[in-house]
Amino acid sequence: MQKTITLDDPQIFRDFDWLHDHGETAFNETKTTAYLAKRLDEMGVPYERFDGMTGLIATLGSGSPIIGMRTDIDALKQTYQGKEGVFHSCGHDSHMAIVLAVAQYYVKNPQELTGTLKLIFQPAEETVTGAEKVIKSGKLPHLNYLYGLHVCPESEVKAKQAEPIIPDAATRTYWVTIKGKTSHAGKPELGANVIDAFSELNEKFRRIKLETDLPYSVTSTMFHAGKSSNIIPDYGTFAVDLRARTNGLMDELQRQAFAAMDSVQQGDIQINLDGNDFSPAAIPSEKAINVMKTAITSVLGQAGLIEPVVTPGGDDFHFYAYDGIADETTMLGLGCNLNPGLHIPGMTFDRDSILDGARMMIEAVRLTTE
Ligand SMILES: [Zn+2]
Repeated sequence: MQKTITLDDPQIFRDFDWLHDHGETAFNETKTTAYLAKRLDEMGVPYERFDGMTGLIATLGSGSPIIGMRTDIDALKQTYQGKEGVFHSCGHDSHMAIVLAVAQYYVKNPQELTGTLKLIFQPAEETVTGAEKVIKSGKLPHLNYLYGLHVCPESEVKAKQAEPIIPDAATRTYWVTIKGKTSHAGKPELGANVIDAFSELNEKFRRIKLETDLPYSVTSTMFHAGKSSNIIPDYGTFAVDLRARTNGLMDELQRQAFAAMDSVQQGDIQINLDGNDFSPAAIPSEKAINVMKTAITSVLGQAGLIEPVVTPGGDDFHFYAYDGIADETTMLGLGCNLNPGLHIPGMTFDRDSILDGARMMIEAVRLTTE
């Protein structure tokens, strides 16, 4: 059933404007969190902050099912028009304005909410570390459903269109140290050259093959070694970037990358993992995708629903399903005439799409239990 969703448009744009003008980097979103708390106070919505961390979780309704909705709240430190600043060039300001609008709607229309709605204002998406901190905080109950959203560049999703899942790939980055043995450049046989070891390893990375038609990649992205032109270098560092469409393919890619690293460790060559970043691939849920499809067509009509567009991007939203705290999850990919692209300071999009996004997220909650 299609219904009219009445929103407080001026308030939504006031929220967006304030949040837009006060971008803060990962885990430094203190003013942003204070603003969100103030707005939830004004609406009479209870919320809980995290211990020693920015962000918060608001709760509406009660009982089951428990439906989660997550917005990221951080921005990026960048230089724009010659000035360094923190900018919402990833559109998280619009995501927050939308989730506040969802809160406002269900405060005014509580009879339309069945079960509990948990609104997660999550810090530090850009560093792919916020979601796991939220999960580990213990402040989130098990979620039967979880919805998220992201604005999409026009090259992927056009205005007045949306996709019912953002099919993010799994990404992993490893930072690695190679140790060898130094010697005079004229006596290479007495040393163990980390540049030789890295070259051999890089060749092995390039030869990694998975049995799949889906795209994947293993790419060395950094390498530093050597201080002197006549000395065999005994110390180097590198980074390798792994991408795969599914979490299963990522596990296999990682197994082969580790095997390659093991195979070059011989004699005086030692390889140590210093750190890694990980972002799981989207875990498609038919139930959640069907809810989102109906939400999209009810707001934008049949022409508004598009097939998901494959991107090489990642989002730590997928940790909620990957870590098992949320069962059925999906992210709405919102077209909004966004140009020239995400993470580019000065990017713009149609503000009215925020209202469409809010309506679709409100619909998704309602349709979950319809
Ligand atoms: Zn983002």
